[in-house]
Amino acid sequence: MFQFFTEDQKMLQTVVREFVEQKIAPHAAEWDAEDKCPVELWPELGQMGILGCFVPQQYGGVGLGLTERAIIIEEVSRYSAGLGIAIMTHDLGVAAILNWGTEEQKQKYLPELCAGTKVGGLSATEPTGGSDLGNQGTTIDKTDTGFVVNGRKCFITNSHIANVNVIIGCSGVNEKGRKILSAVIVPPETPGLTPGREEHKLGLKGSVTGEVILNDVKIGDDCMLSKVGDGMKVAMHTIGHFGRSGMAAIATGVLKACLEDGIKFAKERVVYGKPLTALQAIQFLIAENKVEYEAAENMLFNATAIYDRGTECVPDVAAAKLYASEAAIRAAKRTIELMGGYGVINEYAAGRYMRDALAIVPSGGTSEIMKIIIAGGLTR
Ligand SMILES: Cc1cc2nc3c(=O)[nH]c(=O)nc-3n(C[C@H](O)[C@H](O)[C@H](O)COP(=O)(O)OP(=O)(O)OC[C@H]3O[C@@H](n4cnc5c(N)ncnc54)[C@H](O)[C@@H]3O)c2cc1C
Repeated sequence: MFQFFTEDQKMLQTVVREFVEQKIAPHAAEWDAEDKCPVELWPELGQMGILGCFVPQQYGGVGLGLTERAIIIEEVSRYSAGLGIAIMTHDLGVAAILNWGTEEQKQKYLPELCAGTKVGGLSATEPTGGSDLGNQGTTIDKTDTGFVVNGRKCFITNSHIANVNVIIGCSGVNEKGRKILSAVIVPPETPGLTPGREEHKLGLKGSVTGEVILNDVKIGDDCMLSKVGDGMKVAMHTIGHFGRSGMAAIATGVLKACLEDGIKFAKERVVYGKPLTALQAIQFLIAENKVEYEAAENMLFNATAIYDRGTECVPDVAAAKLYASEAAIRAAKRTIELMGGYGVINEYAAGRYMRDALAIVPSGGTSEIMKIIIAGGLTR
């Protein structure tokens, strides 16, 4: 356990872990095998205070911070990284509305999102390249009564289950020829917004990922987040803090799974008449997994603590996401190796950890983009 948690944070971790062991762990392999997001759990997750836990009580949340949110997502992802990214992305819609919405928008959308009676999502990525966020093909055009949105988003988590969708798009071009981005909320059941193709992923299969199609989606003026032209700010602040700290927490959950499963297996498996733990080569693998898990946790909770104290910290969060996601791949490989032939048998979860770890890397921004952000923060 991270040594600098407060007593309340330690208690939260214990309570969430117990919930996860009861309600999530027994089904994680099945969700993975069936490529299924357990959306039926949403109301229960809402009751537990897991959804949008950082939302103040006046809007239906439990008023915690980014650190507590990372604790929750790490614990969920210890057993189901797929469900971890589904919750994480639900929270992106929540965070965008909480941090950039009007009082009216917060009162209208946040209580149901926190209760789990509605599912949230944030759509930025397009087929022309997720890294090139500024080059939005989706249009958000002004009309007499509000806005009309047209476009096609891809690789969107919760694409087929979200009913409160935050959409990033282009509202015109400035005098330098640069696209002006805006962020809007598309309310539940707005005609014209439909899920498109559903992707079948390598990992993170406890979540649904796919296209969000926007075909003449008419929304009111009251759906604009912040103001026209603030879309890049909304996207960067939301993805930069809530998205990537969430992905770092998911990767840290996978690291914890690799460490714990590796130790358990090594203690139980007997070779040469002794447990595997007697072999120094096996001890080295466990030690390396422990070091990388601790390093990932420290970087993650350092970054979330900076944010919770009121300072924006996109490069710190990017560093935590870069390290944790790459370390999770190394840890999964070590755990598979440690287990010998059993490591590649699907009855064991080690193969899933590797698939999940590989799928975490591009989600929320690739490792190359994280390096550009970290270096930018140091050299700008
Ligand atoms: C499981 C999953 C869930 C996702 N969920 C969401 C979601 O809910 N909402 C959403 O909006 N998006 C989501 N995404 C999209 C994700 O954010 C993008 O996949 C990511 O930003 C990368 O974009 P891309 O896949 O188009 O890759 P590209 O941008 O095409 O990149 C391809 C390669 O080029 C490299 N590259 C690109 N630009 C540079 C550069 N300037 N310098 C060096 N190398 C570069 C990249 O690192 C990568 O190796 C999800 C993705 C996945 C895999």
